[in-house]
Amino acid sequence: MESYLKKLRNKYLKRRKKKNPNMPIATWIQDDVFLDKSIGKSITIILRTVGCRWAYESGGCTMCSYLMDSSPIKISAENIINQFEYALNKYREEILKNPEKYSIKLFTSGSFLDEFEVPKDAKEHIFKKLNELPIKEIAVESRPEFINDYNLKIIRDYVDNNINVEIGTGIETLNEKIRNTSIHKGVSIDDIKKAIETAKKYNVGIKAYLLIKPLFITEKQAIIDSIHSANECINMGVSRISYCPATIHKGTLTEVLWKKNQYRPPFLWSVLEILKEVKSQNLDKLIMCDTAGIPSSRGAHNKIGCECNYKLKEILNDFTITQDLSLIEGALNSECECKKYWEEFIRFEEKNIVPLGDEK
Ligand code: SF4
Ligand SMILES: [Zn+2]
Repeated sequence: MESYLKKLRNKYLKRRKKKNPNMPIATWIQDDVFLDKSIGKSITIILRTVGCRWAYESGGCTMCSYLMDSSPIKISAENIINQFEYALNKYREEILKNPEKYSIKLFTSGSFLDEFEVPKDAKEHIFKKLNELPIKEIAVESRPEFINDYNLKIIRDYVDNNINVEIGTGIETLNEKIRNTSIHKGVSIDDIKKAIETAKKYNVGIKAYLLIKPLFITEKQAIIDSIHSANECINMGVSRISYCPATIHKGTLTEVLWKKNQYRPPFLWSVLEILKEVKSQNLDKLIMCDTAGIPSSRGAHNKIGCECNYKLKEILNDFTITQDLSLIEGALNSECECKKYWEEFIRFEEKNIVPLGDEK
């Protein structure tokens, strides 16, 4: 499978375009919920780097095309600092006017902690500058193998303990076979445990990204897997769960199978079911859900065109911010004709054994 994934990746990488190395890929502000469950705003800065090492070396994960956003030319520490300063200048005043009301999220199209993407000098500059601001939280994203003493020490050398630091990491599932075969993540349970334990030593939280419905499993298996994985992650001591319902990215194996009608992203009913189970079993824990791509045919959706899709997307967004379980329960108790279709789909797919695509 690896050679197939590499070929697929290389084919698409030829289409990657050169962009200004001193400008971030994107920046935006949105409502967000902090680790202490208070509500504020987050500023997301997507830094332009050379991209995910795992995707270059092995073809990467079967659902991910972030490498397409990365730079085909070398990005220096200075370039990254320029990108960061550009973004900060845009929002600095707003942050200073609203102390303790912002978190800053620094993402790349890979791992912020990987030296290959963000050199030490750039990390030191960024953390030092962030520590001077009256912000509540700092979030970065990284594969678990880079959540080590070396990198966490850099963070805590510059960032005081009064600023929460959280690292989002793609655990995806606690099932080894699904993680490493269906998703081709190249991350073991030992890597995950080690990352969580190391983060605890430095008073750094771990946000566990869990993928809802990886390839090669049925809708029902996906629901069971997502509930089990969240409960296990919480037992291991992660600071929050963030679900990513699968979305079809261009140039991925997931897209190839989706186009052959051998895969369908999860139903929103399934996503609600997962959230209800996990939140009701862990009322004091932060359980979030990304809604990017919902409800297009490439994102999680109920029956295409059904009017419940947009309403449920809004409920998922509201739940993520408020953590109010009654929103999810209310949505699950609401009626829509596509709910029967979802139940039938699950029954039929289980008999069929092979995962099904969308209706055509
Ligand atoms: S999901 Fe993360 S680790 Fe996997 S290819 Fe994408 S950026 Fe790399
Ligand atoms: Zn519906």
